[in-house]
Amino acid sequence: MTRSLSTPSAFSTIGYAALAAAIVLLGVAECPAADAVADTATSESDHQLELDLENGKYHITIDTSGSPDLTEWAEQELAPVVKEWYPMIVDMLPGKGFDAPTEVSIKIADDIEGVAYTSGDRVSCNGNWMRRQLDGEARGAVVHELVHVVQQYRGWRRGNRPPGWLVEGVCDYIRWFLYEPESGGALIAANGADRARHDASYRTTANFLNWVSNKYGSNLVPKLNARLREGKYSVDFWEEYTGQPLDKLAASWKKALAAGDAEQPAAAQKDDQNVNQLTAEEQEQGWKLLFDGSSTDGWHSFKRDEVREGWKVEDGKLVCADPRNAGDLCTNDDYKWFELRLEYNISQGGNSGIMFHVTDDGGAAWATGPEFQLEDNMEAHDPTRCGWLYALYKPAEDADTGQPIDATLPAGQWNQVRLLISPDGCVHEINGVEYLEYKLGSEEFNERVAASKFASMPLFAKPDKGMIALQGDHGQVSFRNVKVRPITE
Ligand SMILES: [Zn+2]
Repeated sequence: MTRSLSTPSAFSTIGYAALAAAIVLLGVAECPAADAVADTATSESDHQLELDLENGKYHITIDTSGSPDLTEWAEQELAPVVKEWYPMIVDMLPGKGFDAPTEVSIKIADDIEGVAYTSGDRVSCNGNWMRRQLDGEARGAVVHELVHVVQQYRGWRRGNRPPGWLVEGVCDYIRWFLYEPESGGALIAANGADRARHDASYRTTANFLNWVSNKYGSNLVPKLNARLREGKYSVDFWEEYTGQPLDKLAASWKKALAAGDAEQPAAAQKDDQNVNQLTAEEQEQGWKLLFDGSSTDGWHSFKRDEVREGWKVEDGKLVCADPRNAGDLCTNDDYKWFELRLEYNISQGGNSGIMFHVTDDGGAAWATGPEFQLEDNMEAHDPTRCGWLYALYKPAEDADTGQPIDATLPAGQWNQVRLLISPDGCVHEINGVEYLEYKLGSEEFNERVAASKFASMPLFAKPDKGMIALQGDHGQVSFRNVKVRPITE
């Protein structure tokens, strides 16, 4: 559910192609201090940009006094990227009790060596290199360094250090796959699969992290980062998170690279022949299909007899193709207690939801039916995240990140939903991970409703049975394998 227009996508607004030159970015958290660099004679104030972000929460200076001709570029091209991406990187890499640096300096000077490096909260960039890369890699290199500023991997005791390939891999993952995915700068051709090593650092490790994230969950890098920051990373992390040891994962990744589909996630993402069908076992258990794969039979648009044109059936998918002309799609039958399973695939920035106990008595489906929120957690900005019971219940904290559990796969991939609505309790699951439980009509449930925006909707969550509704809100969303198993009391 979203009641406001979405902000434009950060990932698509910064569109430029950077060629994949084999450039090695220097340095990690413990690089030589930037102090050694002498300022040039130019007045500093003319070449020092002061950026206040998030109402003064973060303050970032960009000092170009050592490369004064880059001042205008820094102001017009670099500053907007820094302003947008520093807070986003902070959000992407949370930790329990962790506060990212609030004062950050970025210094660009001709006499800084290498490409760029970071020491604590100070980023240093070689002005000569930047000048040649103004339309190429200059901005992305700064994004990479800003990740170092947020990493702060300080939990390692004397003598131990976080593995360098992961330190740099996390930076390049955010840079190449989140900041500038359209550049393709960290893709690996099929004929390069043989030589690719998951621990080769930088873009190669970034490619590996992207593949694992796509296959096992978009929360991988935030969790990995939290372990690295606290000094609690060990190789066991991989098996714990994915069920596969690191060497097996690496071998599967190389295989996917060789097959040319490392960008493609798990085999489960591929359409199989059993899509939109029930197994004999499911039939025996009382499951029935809500979507037959070829028609909208069994559905109607909210308070209409027919299905509005924005909903289409395409290649075995029930698609909200034109959200402006879709609205909410309701089952013809009512359900009281039931188990619902379905798969959804949402577009970047997309927002949708699954409502239940919906009746025609409200002005909108959400005026009666509670909603299992669906959204692209990366680019949609509704404060109710994917899998939560809208504005009422959210999952427990992930012990590593201190953020609510997130088991979603990125936009464009299939995710499995299980929604159990039973007299003994209701459960939300995504991709096999249990998110939350509640009991409809319980004192606690009613208290939460009374404290929410639904308090002013007298019919909300009152019907004890109703339609299941799929929300056509904004962004495209597809559904398949939509099955329900009614539960008798
Ligand atoms: Zn680096």
